[in-house]
Amino acid sequence: MNLISKTEYHIGLEEKYGAHNYHPLPVVLSRGRGVEVWDVEGKSYFDFLSGYSAVNQGHCHPRIISVLQEQAAKLTLTSRAFHNDQLGEYEKFMTEKFGYEKLLPMNTGVEAVETAIKLARRWGYAIKKIRENQAKIIVCSQNFHGRTSTVISFSSDPSSYENFGPFMPGFISIPFNDLPALEKALQDPQVAAFLVEPIQGEAGVVVPDEGYLAQAKEYCTAANVLFIGDEIQTGLGRTGRMLCLDHEKVRPDILILGKALSGGTLPVSAVLADDEIMLTIKPGEHGSTYGGNPLACRVAIESIRILEEENMVENAVMMGDLLRSEIMALKSPLIELVRGKGLLNAIVIRHSDPEAAWKICMAMKELGLLAKPTHGDKIRLAPPLLISAQQVKEAAGIIGRSLAAF
Ligand code: PLP
Repeated sequence: MNLISKTEYHIGLEEKYGAHNYHPLPVVLSRGRGVEVWDVEGKSYFDFLSGYSAVNQGHCHPRIISVLQEQAAKLTLTSRAFHNDQLGEYEKFMTEKFGYEKLLPMNTGVEAVETAIKLARRWGYAIKKIRENQAKIIVCSQNFHGRTSTVISFSSDPSSYENFGPFMPGFISIPFNDLPALEKALQDPQVAAFLVEPIQGEAGVVVPDEGYLAQAKEYCTAANVLFIGDEIQTGLGRTGRMLCLDHEKVRPDILILGKALSGGTLPVSAVLADDEIMLTIKPGEHGSTYGGNPLACRVAIESIRILEEENMVENAVMMGDLLRSEIMALKSPLIELVRGKGLLNAIVIRHSDPEAAWKICMAMKELGLLAKPTHGDKIRLAPPLLISAQQVKEAAGIIGRSLAAF
């Protein structure tokens, strides 16, 4: 009999029956708790990806699971054809917490981005009086806002857009962290909005210069252009503030949240804005079957409360500082630089082998730490926000030994 391991069995199933649109590390996970996950062979790992920052509160946070189970046994979905007794409570909680007049609930991150784009265009025609079908949105090169055909239309990454055309018009791409380019693009009177990630996560945790976001917001306001903050990855404590834009005291006109809004349990996203923007969309003009379902609403409130009540945002500041200093102290010649804010960090690898980052991630996996390379030479380090100093030190040890072994 040809015996294969459980790992090989599960990977084989995905390979044979699943679409090949991802290239995962060869590890099959079956359990998670806090910062740790276990594979089907029983080996434990530190999770340094956190579901691309969806699991900020840690895997299977008991309070989230409890609320999830309680609500799942009561009512899960009504659709928006009827009201439910959780949605209004959630909208009140979120608008008060983040300081907006209205919330529009969606599910995945990219749906919320699509919603923000539609809102900005609608506002552009209804309020700013942009000429019919001429609205433009300024975006930044190296952005990542998701995978729909509209959103990939303004991606600068060929692996996102190549052979998926024709593309949606109406986007102007400028370099990230380039204020003169923004100022120039804003001169076009047909511009409705500027869409930006406060830190470009998928690009490899690219942090703009201090003051960039605040100045960008000022330029937008002066040009009567909406500033849209995509905080799907950077928000909800990840960078050591509830929102990354809080570092520069910037209040976006449209705020997009997702990922950690459910602590990794189900897709929950949201768009927040004031009435002048939000009420330009009327009944029947936008929506989603699952958006605003009672299960998502309960889970989202609990997910935010946990971040605050368990001091995860403050912990992200301290553990982020510790993680970066521990990694710098490794003094590895393979580390070109370490960058990030709070617990959204990346190491840029210096090596002629284009596969170096992947190979280092494989070595880290063997030693019990899971991370994923992005753009070839960068390794993102983004553990759940409840990580302890002891765990950070252990993880840095694993990273050090993996670099040394390369
Ligand atoms: N926007 C940003 C900044 C993201 O990082 C992501 C996902 O990584 C998205 C949007 C898309 O979110 P989703 O994968 O839930 O559609």
